[in-house]
Amino acid sequence: MSPAAQPRPGVRDVEPYVSPQLEVVARLNTNECPHPLPQDFSDALAGAVRDLPLNRYPDGQMTRLREEVAAHHGHPFEGTWTANGSNEILTELLLAYGGPGQRAAIFEPTYLLHSRLSWLTHTAVIAHRLEDPFIINEHAVEQALADEPDVVFVCSPNNPTGNAQPVEAVAELAHASSALIVVDEAYIEFGGESALKLVADHPNVVVTRTLSKAFALAGARIGYCLAAPEVVRDLQRVRLPYHMSALTQAAGIAALRHAGEATAMLGAIRAQRDRIVDRLSAMPRVTAYPSDANFVLFTPPPGRDAAEVWQALLDRGVLIRDLSSLVSRALRVTAGTEDEITQFLDALTEVLT
Ligand code: PMP
Repeated sequence: MSPAAQPRPGVRDVEPYVSPQLEVVARLNTNECPHPLPQDFSDALAGAVRDLPLNRYPDGQMTRLREEVAAHHGHPFEGTWTANGSNEILTELLLAYGGPGQRAAIFEPTYLLHSRLSWLTHTAVIAHRLEDPFIINEHAVEQALADEPDVVFVCSPNNPTGNAQPVEAVAELAHASSALIVVDEAYIEFGGESALKLVADHPNVVVTRTLSKAFALAGARIGYCLAAPEVVRDLQRVRLPYHMSALTQAAGIAALRHAGEATAMLGAIRAQRDRIVDRLSAMPRVTAYPSDANFVLFTPPPGRDAAEVWQALLDRGVLIRDLSSLVSRALRVTAGTEDEITQFLDALTEVLT
């Protein structure tokens, strides 16, 4: 027998990224849109897919999709880029601006993939801890820039805490350094102020977006960024050839053309988010953090263990996310449909009493 191949050092120290995908009554653990796609959108997508020349490679420049993104935001075509989910956009940004010898600053607690993708691309991570209310203030900006990072991640609204970050903090980061400031706005349609207006004057700011949340298209895997043309030219240098399939591009084009219908659901989702915060805040000794996103972070009463509460909810058919590894004793629940949130609130009341 020949010897087994060894992966690069460190690979086997890392656990695979998995989020449970369980058949439960209320799946509230991955911040998806709980509503099905509008019928008009599905019809348009089915028609577009039928006519695709799948014997050919797809458009490697994603021209029509990028034109839709550019028109949707009134942003130059040359400054837009698309990929399979915003996770792939983040990966490409790190392939171009991170890498061996390069350093990325992150403000914790935040989206786990920022540090994970940095590791994947051999980019060193410098983590700065924010305390409740998890806002990037002047002191945090100064601290982050003192290390002269090459990339700075800002997540706004931030996952898992839910709060948006001040655009002034992004402006300050961009103004005072030549690092690439990556503003992850996966949840911006639910609340908070976008940093997009900074891109024109600050070519070191890139805003990343996704169709996985507000556009109800998590299954299609579509993300994009809005940046200066030179950033997009750098992404062209590191991308895989034909990385976005013709099927995915067609889905994205149809989605953006039906943006009005998809985003019509936002009000209902925000209403459930606010309902969660109100109801949790009224529960004895439960702390609910204010949220600009489509999810709410909360801690059960002191003395109750997050993992135990998570399991008790799951036993009642409600799946949420245990984030106690990021914020002490914290759990995160996605703003689902009215029925799902009723189930969640009833189950939690039962578990806590
Ligand atoms: N950014 C943040 C902050 C997220 O929470 C997520 C998904 N959970 C993503 C990016 C990735 O989204 P996608 O790859 O589906 O576009």
